[in-house]
Amino acid sequence: ARGLTKVYRMGEVEVHALRGVDLDLYKGEFVVLLGPSGSGKSTLLNILGGLDSPSGGEVICQGRNLVKAGDRELTEFRRHFVGFVFQFYNLIPSLTARENVAIVTEIARNPMSPEEALEMVGLGERMDHFPAQLSGGEQQRVAIARAVAKRPAVLLCDEPTGALDSKTGIVVLEVLERINRELGTTTAVITHNAGIADMADRVIHFMDGHIERIDRPAQRKAPRELSW
Ligand code: ATP
Ligand code: MG
Repeated sequence: ARGLTKVYRMGEVEVHALRGVDLDLYKGEFVVLLGPSGSGKSTLLNILGGLDSPSGGEVICQGRNLVKAGDRELTEFRRHFVGFVFQFYNLIPSLTARENVAIVTEIARNPMSPEEALEMVGLGERMDHFPAQLSGGEQQRVAIARAVAKRPAVLLCDEPTGALDSKTGIVVLEVLERINRELGTTTAVITHNAGIADMADRVIHFMDGHIERIDRPAQRKAPRELSW
């Protein structure tokens, strides 16, 4: 991203959500975005994932400028290149875990099987459960399986632990870290869960619509053994 700005206009009021953001995301990286409420984290992630367009600046992905891309190219990018995970899991209540993941694998080009994706997030034993029969952390792991089953190059996660208690949140973050390590999926995670910082390659601190500081933990720590 180069010189990204985003201005929301609501009648007379202008909100400068991004005030000139430059950021490189490297292949295979695991980055964490921290920052106060309203500092522009979600706005940035949505623009990087092609869900929203900036007011100014460029998003260059593998040499192509997303900001100038046509509708077809953008749909292609969203469908095959990026996976999204949000705070709320957005699972379909009438479908089992396996069926929720299959919705995506049926239209993907080179998907893993729903079973493989659910095994990867530790839900091999829960494939035929419906969302209402799963805990919050398990539902979020289904949503992660759905996002990674199409083997996206980039996984963008906006407060994936926001609706979870901190212990369950750590398990979800460990799942993301493991996917990054094992599949090499470039991953950016917005979280308020400071416990994740040691797992990241870089920690990007946001403030008032710009990057205030980037920390590189001395050594990326492998998480403790997964605990489910
Ligand atoms: P949080 O931690 O609370 O999720 P954030 O860092 O993700 O915050 P953003 O959602 O990116 O922050 O919002 C940045 C600023 O832009 C805020 O002042 C917000 O009110 C404003 N904003 C975001 N979306 C819109 C919108 N659709 N219309 C108008 N203003 C918006
Ligand atoms: Mg946000």
